[in-house]
Amino acid sequence: MSKEFSEARLDVRAFAQAEGQLQGQAPLSAFSRLAQDAAGQDGEVRWQADGELVAQAGGSGHVWLHLQAEAVVPMTCQRCLTTARIPLEVHRSFRFVADEATAEMEDDDSEEDVLALSREFDLLQLIEDELLMELPVVPRHEACPEPVNMQSSDADFVQAGQEKVNPFAVLRGLDVGKKAD
Ligand SMILES: [Zn+2]
Repeated sequence: MSKEFSEARLDVRAFAQAEGQLQGQAPLSAFSRLAQDAAGQDGEVRWQADGELVAQAGGSGHVWLHLQAEAVVPMTCQRCLTTARIPLEVHRSFRFVADEATAEMEDDDSEEDVLALSREFDLLQLIEDELLMELPVVPRHEACPEPVNMQSSDADFVQAGQEKVNPFAVLRGLDVGKKAD
């Protein structure tokens, strides 16, 4: 590869033309938005991007970027409330088009992810966006490290169920009252 590419200011078309490859590894703290949602800074992000130019009859070719990213993000397990190291994984391909307007139009119309070409594309921001979308809404250990004491919460649940009044039972009660008159 004769040309050096920068992940923070990537010339996407040149990267595709050169069939470039970039990869990196960074602590979670380097991705501030992702780190903000984490229950600690002890995490890591690894990623790789590959450029591809797909021939197009009568055109300058379709510009593709294939992205793989992996991260481990500490989050609070919603079952046992200790920290769980949540693995995230992204495998995604993006097609780049001339400008934002075309990208928006084509993104709506197709299953593909379409982005606008740039000579200074921030690949790290895209990686972070994609990882953020993978964050679980309810993070949990696959298997919690310590047995969870469910007794108290089970009891609360049963009690709540018993106290809840069934509205139809109330109606039936009124009917019975009327007939008795
Ligand atoms: Zn847990």
